[in-house]
Amino acid sequence: MTPILGVIPVIDPTDIRLDDVVQMRKPHPCGGDRWQVVRLGTDIGLICQTCGRKVYLPRSKFARQAKRILSRGAESPPVVQG
Ligand SMILES: [Zn+2]
Repeated sequence: MTPILGVIPVIDPTDIRLDDVVQMRKPHPCGGDRWQVVRLGTDIGLICQTCGRKVYLPRSKFARQAKRILSRGAESPPVVQG
């Protein structure tokens, strides 16, 4: 068994909360790598904490690009379906 350090996937795309601040593997062109989650839907809305630009990423892409969660938002109430 080989210990894997530093590459442990800690982002669970099903466990993302509003107001989470995440660090992405690829920095924004502005140099920032911290993003705040502002929308949870089919796509995840993120605002760059450095320049304020808003982007949307599909959950699958978000899961690949997110490196770690820097701070957690408040626990969201359960989503009511239908
Ligand atoms: Zn930026």
